[in-house]
Amino acid sequence: MTSFGATEIVNNIAANGQQFNSTFKIKGQMYHKVGSLLPMPNESHKFLQIYFMGGEDSERALANRVDARCDYHNLNSPFARRIVTDLDALLNEHNELLKLFKSHMHKLQSGNHAIVINPDRTPAGEHVRRFNAPVVDDVAGIMVGDRTATRQIVIRRRNNNLQFISDTHRSYDALQCPLIFWKGQDGYCVNIKQRDPVTGAETNKNVSSKDFYSYRLMIRSGRDNIILRCRELSQQFMVDMYVKIESERLRYLRYNQQKLRAEEYIPLRDAIAKTADTAEIGNSVILPSSYVGSPRHMQEYIQDAMTFVREYGRPCLFITFTCNPKWQEITSLLLPGQNAIHRHDITARVFKQKLKSLISFITKSHVFGPTRCWMYSVEWQKRRLPHAHILNWFVDKIRAEDIDSLISAEIPDPSTDQLLFDIVTTNMIHGPCGILNRSSPCMVDGKCTKRFPKDFINDMVTHIDGYPIYRRRSTENGGQSFIKTISNADIDMDNRWVVPYSPLLSKIFNAHINVESCSSVKSIKYICKYVNKGSDMAVFRIENTNVNAPPLNENDEITNYQIGRYISSNEAVWRIFGFQIHERDPAVIHLAVHLENGQRAYFTDDTALDRAINQPKTTLNEFFELCNRADAFGAFAQTLLYSEVPRYFTWAQSKKWMPRKKGTPVDACPGLFKSNNLGRVYTVNPRQTECFYLRLLLVNVTGPLSFQDIRKVDGQQYPTYKDACLALGLLEDDNQWDSMLAEAALNCTGTQIRLLFAIVLTTCFPARAQMLWDNHKDSMTDAILYRYRTRYNDLTISFSDAMYNESLIAIEDLCIAIANLPISHFGMSSSNRSASDLLNTDMNRELQYNTVEMAGIVSRNVPILNDEQKIIYDRIMLAVSAGQGGFFFLDAPGGTGKTFLISLLLAEIRSKNGIALAVASSGIAATLLDGCRTAHSAFKLPLNIQNNPDAVCKIKKTIVYGHSAETM
Ligand SMILES: [Zn+2]
Repeated sequence: MTSFGATEIVNNIAANGQQFNSTFKIKGQMYHKVGSLLPMPNESHKFLQIYFMGGEDSERALANRVDARCDYHNLNSPFARRIVTDLDALLNEHNELLKLFKSHMHKLQSGNHAIVINPDRTPAGEHVRRFNAPVVDDVAGIMVGDRTATRQIVIRRRNNNLQFISDTHRSYDALQCPLIFWKGQDGYCVNIKQRDPVTGAETNKNVSSKDFYSYRLMIRSGRDNIILRCRELSQQFMVDMYVKIESERLRYLRYNQQKLRAEEYIPLRDAIAKTADTAEIGNSVILPSSYVGSPRHMQEYIQDAMTFVREYGRPCLFITFTCNPKWQEITSLLLPGQNAIHRHDITARVFKQKLKSLISFITKSHVFGPTRCWMYSVEWQKRRLPHAHILNWFVDKIRAEDIDSLISAEIPDPSTDQLLFDIVTTNMIHGPCGILNRSSPCMVDGKCTKRFPKDFINDMVTHIDGYPIYRRRSTENGGQSFIKTISNADIDMDNRWVVPYSPLLSKIFNAHINVESCSSVKSIKYICKYVNKGSDMAVFRIENTNVNAPPLNENDEITNYQIGRYISSNEAVWRIFGFQIHERDPAVIHLAVHLENGQRAYFTDDTALDRAINQPKTTLNEFFELCNRADAFGAFAQTLLYSEVPRYFTWAQSKKWMPRKKGTPVDACPGLFKSNNLGRVYTVNPRQTECFYLRLLLVNVTGPLSFQDIRKVDGQQYPTYKDACLALGLLEDDNQWDSMLAEAALNCTGTQIRLLFAIVLTTCFPARAQMLWDNHKDSMTDAILYRYRTRYNDLTISFSDAMYNESLIAIEDLCIAIANLPISHFGMSSSNRSASDLLNTDMNRELQYNTVEMAGIVSRNVPILNDEQKIIYDRIMLAVSAGQGGFFFLDAPGGTGKTFLISLLLAEIRSKNGIALAVASSGIAATLLDGCRTAHSAFKLPLNIQNNPDAVCKIKKTIVYGHSAETM
């Protein structure tokens, strides 16, 4: 009855242009709108209005309604018409909302009245039925112009305005999904009370929307759940309801910003580059790291993963475990006529259980040896089945000679193991793609993005940087092959097509389980990032599709998050059920760093006095308290570094370090036990000098008693933390910079490390800058290397002088921006500017598009060009590919798809590594195209062009736009 809208409803299109709508997926914000009961003159009936079509003659009215619906959905078979007729009759007879609208229709004749539906249910207790239909008392007829509360639905007889329906309105579900809630039942509203499970009495706590919908999606024996029978409709319902749940949580965060600002901001938490500027606090809206899936949350997870790496080195195995919709546990629960894709609730539940058992199989049964630590994160792929990335660290590292026995990339021999042969040939064979099957989803630009088929090789080879090259024997050398039928053609598949797997895990779990050995992977940071990147939701950028909307507040993290997220049905149901998307063991405890009294306190007028007296307790303050204890625990704590405390003490609810009571007994301190838990001291931006040096002391000094005590070296008290660091020799020989950069290499991106290095150069004047560069140039350049690898889809590319040079230029640009000094000033060899002209920032920006992604846009959108657009598209692409040049003027009324066409042209050129500069006359127009800039910015046009007859562009031939303008 209402219209459903989202920033974007995503259709899945395979590489061959075929659409597979296996799941429902939306991007950005979602909204429901409702209009008036009757359409404006000369307009056709839409949505709710269809129920009020036709005259008094009920038979003709029915026929009209059925016509309107069938026309709208292009249905013309007699069966479809009969179904529509039956449903119309059902709704007219039983839907309470419709009955209510009809019974009030006569009151609306004058045009002065409206129907109002209250958003909340009449307080519970008065209605005993669980899913109340609105009773007439809840609905009021009001005079137009009367004040209405914001969440009320106000329906008029005829007007042009569409009203947004608040997602907390109890009729939201019934208006959007009349077929599921065919009686007009109430959905979630805010004042449903929780009940005591024992006595059944109402408590004063409200039921959250997550609990409400989780309850509604449950399978109960002996009772039918209509939602689970609705196939594609239930997919949409799940996404819709998850968005509702998320909106409720985000609204809470928006209204509690003051508290969050106090808790989230530095120095209690990591200095995130963007938020380091405390002056911005005033207008920023924070999405805290406690919000699962938020960028801060992802960042904390990556940092925690790197804590494992710092402690235990590289992970041993990287496992990708994908849900198999053919698992018997799933198929046995399907209702007649359903397949797995109709029941995301079942696939989610079964996958969660399987994942749990896979993890415990590895970690508790020690199949690959005792486990040191592990972590996983769940994601959703294109077809939207869940998969998990798992990292495992074992006590005994996997040796190169053992890899063959653990990981195989060969087809098993069916004569010795028929079961494994069946599992591997159904689950672990890539493609085929390439010339055998050009429409395979992995194919981009005629190449397989996963680089299959691999080469035959008789013995496993360990790569210098990357995964090992596993043994794949040809049939002549004893390898197996089998026949696979693809679109009626028999194809002989051999070992070149096998995705590396573990025979043991594959056999037990019968699914796609890719197992890789990470022992020789250099840039482990990127694997940790990849594992923790989260679903599409984390990969977001700010974009504003509505030209008339006010400019986005870049510091409003909540809105930016809502605009950028993607939600698919499976992910929605996973989150409604409250399943974890990350898990890890052991725990990583975050340790605060702040100056004395520098912890932020949250207070209101009422609590200010109390807060001033009772300073909030932090892990750092309490560490000092712990070291001050007069008992044996205090004495033991004095032997510990701050980051070691969580091994022996737990951070209790009462905000105190309490001795652990489980684990391995500690000999030195009876009654104390040691655990595997790790501590991570939050990083501090070196710009906050004193706090930075305090952190340096905390990671080097054991058992400090207070902020003063930590500044005491050999009995002498120093006034500043820096002086204490100097006295301890932590600052000699640039050691601290060396260790700081080494630590940053584990945690930060190349860009962040370069900034750090530039700050060190310009503000701290290290004695041997060149040595620091030589020691850390790899980590400062790894983002550049990574970019090359993604761009050319080639993981064998390694560091080159050109990349180091590019990195050096970026550092020099920063030094010039900070201190206006070239790097030669700091005793480093200069960057080679002339050789890198083509690599400078402007050029880079134009070259950093992901060709695979761009090609994806092209292959998805070219088939949907209309005839006229296609003619223009072909003509312009001909001019580009033939290098003939040209000047085209595209003139068409607004809304006919000019922007769409131009975006596609840009993507096509960029997908082939070409440079396409998008330039628009105004800033607003520039926001419509990817990578678009205004003409003033791109060509350095002078602003006073009208008054100055001699105005010229300030564009130089030497700068990159000169180059790229030529290349065009
Ligand atoms: Zn392929």
